[in-house]
Amino acid sequence: MGDKPECDNNEPEFPCFLCGVCCSRYQVRITLAEARQISEKLGIGWDEFLEGYTDSRWPGETSLLLVHKNQRCVFLKKSAGEPVHICTIHPFKPASCIQWTPGPFRRECREGLQTYWKLDVDEQGRLTGKSEDLERFCRFLSSFPKSPGEPEE
Ligand code: SF4
Repeated sequence: MGDKPECDNNEPEFPCFLCGVCCSRYQVRITLAEARQISEKLGIGWDEFLEGYTDSRWPGETSLLLVHKNQRCVFLKKSAGEPVHICTIHPFKPASCIQWTPGPFRRECREGLQTYWKLDVDEQGRLTGKSEDLERFCRFLSSFPKSPGEPEE
């Protein structure tokens, strides 16, 4: 326990590793302009968008709430056989998602680390766990072609 992974540069931070916990925990509020943009980018008619992708319980006068399906954001897709969830609207995701930053002290990121990687975070924000689990996680992070969560150009 407590060994540092090779990819740990001693900084108390790590990139988003796409566990999807935050996208399962919260419903994202979007502006009407963002809703229009998403519906247009996806080629979905406005009425269909409202009905299939937003929560009818929210007033929707100045903003909308994205609905959850299968207990997560309607736009989040689980990768088969991997502990990875892909945001299917990543290139034009709403501001509240862009502003959400991952980190070792985020409860949701810690839950994802524990659930998918059997890892914890110590008081200094460093990853802790069995060396084989740390190595597996580091290999996974280094397999990302760029920063996790960033769109391919
Ligand atoms: S690592 Fe953190 S920010 Fe990224 S999906 Fe998981 S909970 Fe969300």
